[in-house]
Amino acid sequence: MASTLPIPEKKPDKREYTIMVVPHHGQSVRSIRIPISAIKCGVGILSVAALILGGMFINYRHTVHTANAEKAELEKLRQVNNFQVKQIEQLAKATSVLQEDMARLNKLDAEVRRMLNNEETGVSRSGSARPGSNASGGQGGPTAPPKVDELLALVNDLQANAKAREQSLKNLRDALSERNARLAATPSIWPASGEVTSRFGWRSSPWGWGSDWHPGIDIANDYGTPIAATAAGEVVFSGWYGGYGQMIRIDHGNGIETVYAHNAENLVRPGQYVKKGDVIAYMGSTGASTGTHLHYEVRVNGTAVNPANFL
Ligand SMILES: [Zn+2]
Repeated sequence: MASTLPIPEKKPDKREYTIMVVPHHGQSVRSIRIPISAIKCGVGILSVAALILGGMFINYRHTVHTANAEKAELEKLRQVNNFQVKQIEQLAKATSVLQEDMARLNKLDAEVRRMLNNEETGVSRSGSARPGSNASGGQGGPTAPPKVDELLALVNDLQANAKAREQSLKNLRDALSERNARLAATPSIWPASGEVTSRFGWRSSPWGWGSDWHPGIDIANDYGTPIAATAAGEVVFSGWYGGYGQMIRIDHGNGIETVYAHNAENLVRPGQYVKKGDVIAYMGSTGASTGTHLHYEVRVNGTAVNPANFL
């Protein structure tokens, strides 16, 4: 049905491009001539447009990518920030708890000090007054987030307080150990079990004539009953001593001495240190004695005092 290919009327110009439009139903063939330069120009414009579009596309992709990366980074930072805010709040709570602990420690310190009644330890009380002034500082959490510099100041305050408490406790320990040493060196227990057959002071003479001064107490029990040191100290005499028979004398310091006499056997030597309660001899009846007993004396600065005051 289509007619045979039309033959161009003339040789096409090399500088032109000819498009033939072949219609149906015998209408005349139309040819459109487009100059090559126009085609080149069009291609050039299209290329530039394509380049611009491509560039814009790449730029758009890059911008979107950068924006997404920044968004992710911001989200990460926001999460880190939230986490740190929570941590600071926890730190504030912990600091607040620490302050309360420290306040209790200060109270305890003062209580122990009162119980010891030991003002001469000379502890500076500067640390104990401080927590009160800041005690509410860490409790404002719910209304405003705690400030890190305020927290640091609180922590510094707590550190100073802890140092003061440490010094105070060291002084208390020293005072206590001194007190313990004094207590250990103070006669305070019975030297032997048994029956008190003669008290301290004037008494009718056990030998039958008149009365005499008894510088100690007599405790009677079975032969060989253990005799204990009534306080810690140094044995300064152990041996025979006239009417005292086998005798032991212990120096407890601070001018206090104890004497144990009429022993069957002494178990300690001079120069030996004994503790309160150590068995130092066995009960006997050596020297001027009317029966098995312990003659016990307490001397303060060389003068016999009533041992009952130490029991
Ligand atoms: Zn006696």
